[in-house]
Amino acid sequence: MSPRIYLDHAATTPIHPEVWASMSDIQASGFGNPSSIHHEGRFARTLIEEARKTLARYMNASLGEVFFTSCGTESNNMILTGAVRDLGVTRILTSRIEHPCVIQTVRYLEKLSGIGVVWVPLLADGRTDTTALQQILAREPQTSTLVSLMHVNNELGVINDLAEIGGLCRQYNAFFHTDAVQSIGFQPFDVATIPVDFIGGSAHKFYGPKGCGFVYIRAGIGIQPFLHGGSQERNMRAGTENTLGIHGMGTALAIAQREGSDRNRTLAQLRMTLRESLAHAVPGVTFNEAPDPWQSPKILSVNFPPSPRTDLLLMHLDIEGISASGGSACSSGAEVASPVLQYLAIPAGTKTLRFSFSPANTVDEMVRVSHVLQRLMVAP
Ligand code: PLP
Repeated sequence: MSPRIYLDHAATTPIHPEVWASMSDIQASGFGNPSSIHHEGRFARTLIEEARKTLARYMNASLGEVFFTSCGTESNNMILTGAVRDLGVTRILTSRIEHPCVIQTVRYLEKLSGIGVVWVPLLADGRTDTTALQQILAREPQTSTLVSLMHVNNELGVINDLAEIGGLCRQYNAFFHTDAVQSIGFQPFDVATIPVDFIGGSAHKFYGPKGCGFVYIRAGIGIQPFLHGGSQERNMRAGTENTLGIHGMGTALAIAQREGSDRNRTLAQLRMTLRESLAHAVPGVTFNEAPDPWQSPKILSVNFPPSPRTDLLLMHLDIEGISASGGSACSSGAEVASPVLQYLAIPAGTKTLRFSFSPANTVDEMVRVSHVLQRLMVAP
């Protein structure tokens, strides 16, 4: 039997072997409480501060702008909630294809605090319509506004132009938050040139461990803690730090920085191979994507036309040893398209699958996946 092919790296990535080795190296010695002043505590503190340096270097931020959290969901909750509670934000501009941890937090804040929510129109491929964004920002320039728009969309891989969006936010005096969970470790990031105030990230999306994330908060922006009861993270996030996870996240990001554009080159080759093979092998397939350079090479979103097997395509693939994901959830026994797919208005009966790659995948795997899909979709 052929080995399994894992193509769901946008859901989560395996821990990079070097990250795992670096975590194993300190698992016996790094257990101290980083708040303790003895040797074990100081060693744990050093590990955390080393990781902070790596993250700050990656984003060209300063050390005081980086705070560790438990995941991307917590990071985005912390920023959105803090902006409304502490910065006087009364209007949030966001989109209908953000991750649920943004959309549901915005809806919660709408109910709790009565803030205004404006859904920013999108282009047909799912990127932000920046002309519409500018018109909305210009309409009520006095309103204290937070713009929350993701960097790379988790279902489509389309990339928002953060420099342009951030520039508009500066022009109209709005705060700018970006959920960069799918881009950190893949897309270069320089907060000195991109006018962004808040970033949320998560280690398990870039070959680090689960249970570890971070926020970037631009210096001078004073939001209060989300969790209370301890002075960790310079009073910004109470709770004993996940030293091992933070160390792993730092190592994972250092590897990302070392690999630089090689990582994306490999991903682009894999994506192109699968895309072209499927276009030849399966009549009627289409792709949800943005033109270069606005498409992340780690994600390929494919629409399969109706056929007797499309309904259970993911399950058939799983049986064949291939892990991918779909953009719909089962609700009360009925398939409901994700907000992203609803937005794209995919025709009824069409099945959209997401394949997401890692540099450890191979071109041969892409060819095998395409053959399997051809057999499933085309064979009688
Ligand atoms: N934001 C995006 C775009 C994501 O893809 C995810 C996870 O899928 C999250 C946020 C949530 O991150 P975490 O799983 O670390 O909570």
